[in-house]
Amino acid sequence: MKAAPFAYVRPGSVTEVLSELSRDGAKVIAGGQSLVPVLAMRLAQPTTLVDINAVEELHTLRTELSGVRLGAAVRQRTAQRDPAIAEVPLLGMALPWIGHREIRSRGTICGSLAHADPAAELPAVAICLEATLTIASPKGERTVDAVDFFTAAMTTTVQPEELITSVYFPRATETQGFGFAEIARRHGDFALAGVAIRVDAKDRMRPSARITCFGISDIPRVRDVSEQLSDALSKDGPDAPEARLRTALAAAAEELAADVVDTGGDDHGSQAYRRQLITALASRELARAYAKAVRASSHTDEEKA
Ligand SMILES: Cc1cc2nc3c(=O)[nH]c(=O)nc-3n(C[C@H](O)[C@H](O)[C@H](O)COP(=O)(O)OP(=O)(O)OC[C@H]3O[C@@H](n4cnc5c(N)ncnc54)[C@H](O)[C@@H]3O)c2cc1C
Repeated sequence: MKAAPFAYVRPGSVTEVLSELSRDGAKVIAGGQSLVPVLAMRLAQPTTLVDINAVEELHTLRTELSGVRLGAAVRQRTAQRDPAIAEVPLLGMALPWIGHREIRSRGTICGSLAHADPAAELPAVAICLEATLTIASPKGERTVDAVDFFTAAMTTTVQPEELITSVYFPRATETQGFGFAEIARRHGDFALAGVAIRVDAKDRMRPSARITCFGISDIPRVRDVSEQLSDALSKDGPDAPEARLRTALAAAAEELAADVVDTGGDDHGSQAYRRQLITALASRELARAYAKAVRASSHTDEEKA
């Protein structure tokens, strides 16, 4: 099928983009990696496509005092190759899982967030890291926490006349460790189930831990699992190797899976299968993230000594 006819504009500033978006039926196009297939299937029939790629300021990727800001036109692959990505390790871990290199060369970080596919990697990362999105409209600018941004499958708080201008990811601290994993049917496919994890081992026996699961519900589901991790550590002692910690976490991970998986199943995998995936991935990645957090904070202790 071919896309229905539409007008195409390529404004050079955010103000002009917003003016174009105020027309009825106008829609942003960034990398086009999700929108173009949707147009081709006529699932969307915008009157005007507003291409944001000529707006220079939207290509900005910069390190700020406590994090990294990525403009709306920053490609996934550009971010992957930028040294600033080291400041946000979880983002660096997740990016290679998105489709294939060619897709990441066009697809943008903000476009993926705006598209809000329940099986996409970046919404889960943004929620896990407590990222914030800056959204512009003719009325001014607003900031939204990622955790409040996704409202349903393929639906966010962004209104048709609004433009996401950037997303801000807080920088990792020296006591944090991260985990990311997903299972897909083939390399490059969307996830059947996946987890994004942040652990802070400032207090090694009582770390804080946050896990976001995706591919298992209409939006990514985030849970604080600090207590479960502390309980597992108290069973195994502070120097528990990853494998022992993983075993100790299995019951907690199973409970988490029962709580978050609510797809009801589809052609790609039943609910029970997805629960198994979340249980396995969550216990493994939580143990790994904790081990990394402890290693990172040990280096810091050594440097201080
Ligand atoms: C074969 C294939 C495999 C893929 N595999 C994966 C995968 O494994 N994981 C994954 O996460 N994604 C995957 N994708 C999608 C890809 O990552 C897209 O790049 C991404 O979802 C959307 O980014 P984009 O810049 O291309 O957005 P576009 O396609 O240009 O836009 C997507 C939607 O977001 C809106 N939008 C875009 N930018 C803004 C903005 N700044 N403000 C407001 N609204 C905006 C558009 O209006 C549109 O509704 C795949 C795509 C293909 C074609």
